[in-house]
Amino acid sequence: MSMTVLERLGLDRHPRVVTGQGVKHGVAGQVVVTNPATGRPIAAVILDDERTRESVVAESCEAFRAWREVPAPARGQVVRAIGDEFRRHKEALGELISLEVGKIRQEGLGEVQETIDIADYAVGLSRTLSGPVLQSERPRHRLYEQWLPLGPIGVISAFNFPNAVWAWNAMIAAVCGDVVIWKPSLLAPLTAIASNAIAERVSAEMGHPGVFRLLIGTDTQIAESLVEDRRLPLISATGSCRMGRRVGEVVARRLGRSLLELGGNNAVIVHSDADLDLAARSILFGAVGTAGQRCTTTRRLIAHESVAAEITRRLAEAYGKVAIGDPLNEGTLVGPLITPAAVETFLAAIRRARDEGGEVVAGGERASGLPTEIAGGNFVRPAIVRAPSSNRLPIALEETFAPILYVFTYRTLDEALAMHNGVDQGLASGIFTDSLAASETFLSVTGSGSDCGLAYVNLGTSGAEIGGAFGGEKDTGGGRESGSDSWKAYMRRQTVAVNHGKQLALAQGIRFGE
Ligand code: NAD
Repeated sequence: MSMTVLERLGLDRHPRVVTGQGVKHGVAGQVVVTNPATGRPIAAVILDDERTRESVVAESCEAFRAWREVPAPARGQVVRAIGDEFRRHKEALGELISLEVGKIRQEGLGEVQETIDIADYAVGLSRTLSGPVLQSERPRHRLYEQWLPLGPIGVISAFNFPNAVWAWNAMIAAVCGDVVIWKPSLLAPLTAIASNAIAERVSAEMGHPGVFRLLIGTDTQIAESLVEDRRLPLISATGSCRMGRRVGEVVARRLGRSLLELGGNNAVIVHSDADLDLAARSILFGAVGTAGQRCTTTRRLIAHESVAAEITRRLAEAYGKVAIGDPLNEGTLVGPLITPAAVETFLAAIRRARDEGGEVVAGGERASGLPTEIAGGNFVRPAIVRAPSSNRLPIALEETFAPILYVFTYRTLDEALAMHNGVDQGLASGIFTDSLAASETFLSVTGSGSDCGLAYVNLGTSGAEIGGAFGGEKDTGGGRESGSDSWKAYMRRQTVAVNHGKQLALAQGIRFGE
């Protein structure tokens, strides 16, 4: 008999994972993990309590003191070995992600690839972390900036990227000299246990235990007290705007740092001269990929009046053919939503859109007629909703974490940009056009174009590369992770001045008691 994915990853023998007959609902101190494609339990996970939280934080402070002494390039070698181990476990971890959160196989594998890529990136970074040498105004003085490890950092992750969001933070933080305490979503603790075990085992085998720790528990018992803990100088939190408001407030109150990666309400503008083939294919991936459960999912299509009917027709046709089903079957493009509650939220949004004058032109209901093995899953048919001619559709101003694409029509680019920027969030954005003037207007350096952290031309909103800084503005929280200079969030800056002469020279030419 072939091994199950839990067996391949050693989760069946893990002390905090309960499998088989032992899995029961309602057991105090445990959470049951359910396969969203079948509605059946996969395993139960034993939760941490206040006592384990306290010991994990205390041990992490201790581990930090040792880890920061390791030269950054040597820290990079540990991350390199972790990346290699993720390469070895890519298939199994990708499958576990599909099982636990319902991503299709390609996207589960893609998520693990992101972890491998960010590990590679961090290895390079480990030799290039640097600060500038500045020109001092004082004779025989050297002035420069150096970047120092920050401390144990808390990482809170959302269900929809159960592996890569942690890796974006943890691989970079590790080369920066920080240790990481990860609090994953209770909807995806198995991927977290498997991923963290790989990193912690490799690091410990190389002589550095305690760099990667995991705390799994409820928001009230575990997450909120982590956020309040002054021993954690940085809390990096990914999730809804609601969560970010709370975390941002609590961390600010203790004057800590937060890195917030929150919800999006991403739009694509399709201009009159757009390549409609390219636009339709990109929007399809952006809007229905990951069953609409990405922070970067395309939620609004703002189309020029001359092409709106045609692009909507092409999309509706493509939606009609999209294969919905078991995420592990090759050929499936849309898997389940994460929970039955997410299905209800989807259906409620569709009802509200209709009440507000929206016209459903594709999908918008539970998916029926699926094979019996997945009849208990949380499947819906991705929806396209055309806004009324007034373009007034208040539901579209909210992020519903499900596959609903709202279509608006415009006459002038200014009108399109006003609609585009007229939501609270500011994560990912795109324009399809062959016009230099239109794309430059969208990307204007005055800031009058897209107000998002990510702005793309002739690309959909989903599928960022790791090399650029990732994050969004406004209610998306302003944080930046992944590439570019995002590493600076995980370090503290020290400005250094060294007087190598024999005179006391004061800045600003001040003479004091001479
Ligand atoms: P969520 O806000 O419900 O939960 C996210 C995480 O925050 C979980 O680990 C949860 O346990 C924790 N949490 C919740 N309340 C908390 C509190 N008071 N204190 C501390 N921790 C708390 O989000 P979700 O449903 O898991 O994920 C979907 C949301 O995440 C969407 O809004 C999506 O756009 C967003 N998201 C954003 C990004 C990004 O990079 N911007 C990436 C992925 C997901």
